[in-house]
Amino acid sequence: MNVTNLEPTLEFAQKLDQEDPLRHFRDEFYLPPNSIYMDGNSLGLLSKRAEKTLFTVLQDWRILGIDGWTKGTHPWFDLSEKVGAMLAPLVGASPEEVIATGSTTVNLHQLVSTFYHPEGKRTKILADELTFPSDIYALQSQLRIHGYDPSTHLIRVKSRDGRFLEEEDIISAMSEDVALVILPTVLYRSGQILDIKLLTHEAHKRGILIGFDACHSIGAIPHSFSEWGVDFAFWCNYKYINGGPGCVAGLYVHRKHFGSAPGLAGWFGSKKDKQFDMEHTFSPSLTAGAYQIGTPHLLSLAPLIGSLEIFMEAGIERIRQKSLQLTSYLMYLIEHELSSFGFIIGNPKDNARRGGHISLEHEEAARICKSLKENGVIPDFRAPNIIRLAPIALYTSYEEVWNVVQILKKIMQEKQYKKFSNEREVVA
Ligand SMILES: *Cc1c(COP(=O)(O)O)cnc(C)c1O
Repeated sequence: MNVTNLEPTLEFAQKLDQEDPLRHFRDEFYLPPNSIYMDGNSLGLLSKRAEKTLFTVLQDWRILGIDGWTKGTHPWFDLSEKVGAMLAPLVGASPEEVIATGSTTVNLHQLVSTFYHPEGKRTKILADELTFPSDIYALQSQLRIHGYDPSTHLIRVKSRDGRFLEEEDIISAMSEDVALVILPTVLYRSGQILDIKLLTHEAHKRGILIGFDACHSIGAIPHSFSEWGVDFAFWCNYKYINGGPGCVAGLYVHRKHFGSAPGLAGWFGSKKDKQFDMEHTFSPSLTAGAYQIGTPHLLSLAPLIGSLEIFMEAGIERIRQKSLQLTSYLMYLIEHELSSFGFIIGNPKDNARRGGHISLEHEEAARICKSLKENGVIPDFRAPNIIRLAPIALYTSYEEVWNVVQILKKIMQEKQYKKFSNEREVVA
């Protein structure tokens, strides 16, 4: 898409839909009736295929009982490994480097427990001040477990403008007392993509291990974790991956670390052929599977089988291309239609630096979001002043993007938001 050729008309948006090679995937999803869903970066929608694989696992439980572990349509015993292998191409890893397990925060705990080895002067963990709070809580508690004070041992790289991080600031904070770096691949508010390859290279030059939280990039942008030498990563699968609320998360460990003893051990981390020997000597798997803990949440794993089939068919490169076109068109329309209403586009405009969502800043953001909901648009709000809009390549149309901006324009022209209070809801 050439940005200079864009037009702000409904006809143009419809033409983009007709030319969209991914348009048929939209029919595979349950779209909330009478609304435009712009929140797929918080909770992706249910697809018919994800629903089907969930029902299949339920049915196997009904018919087979315990035998579902080995004789189910998707045998449960190594389903985490199988789903991990389906996730692997999305992060640029080999099948053994990825496992579907745990949740984002639990996986972060596991990986820090495994790869944080404070020694001599090297005792600190480096993160950033814009990162997702759960990651910070986890890192603080890990430092405390090791007997360190988080206020001196957790370094948080500062943002210059409250939106973005500069790689050079992160790199200059990689000092001799840092043992481990944990960063997001994409920042959850501004949607900025960090230069993962560069940061990994610079950390390794200084003898520091580096891991990434990929919650806001998995399923939205391609990665080459293995090629870049990223030590480990973790993410949730309920955002762009559409695996369902609270579904099982992902964990990647580079093969050079295979055999590293899991910090938090449990029997599902065993070599699969040893697990049922029931010995009290743990034989961890020599793959990323070693970092599982207990029995997987099968019913929260099952939808991923169907959902990831869609990703395999659509291809992450095509998904990324359409996502960039959707967000480019959305930004173009915002600039064209809403310039007089005090909005600031708070995400990177450069394609290479922008993740999957648009971060629209406005001092009345909380109540503009409520007004959008009243008008059938489902955005999300991040305090204090951000409206996140995520058009999703697999199920959002250009026509919907066009409509969202028209609705927003009407809300602003008629000051419809004034009837709401400018405060967030319990779940924003
Ligand atoms: C969504 C999200 C999480 C959520 O963690 P859970 O353990 O799944 O609740 C963590 N980190 C980031 C960056 C996220 O976007």
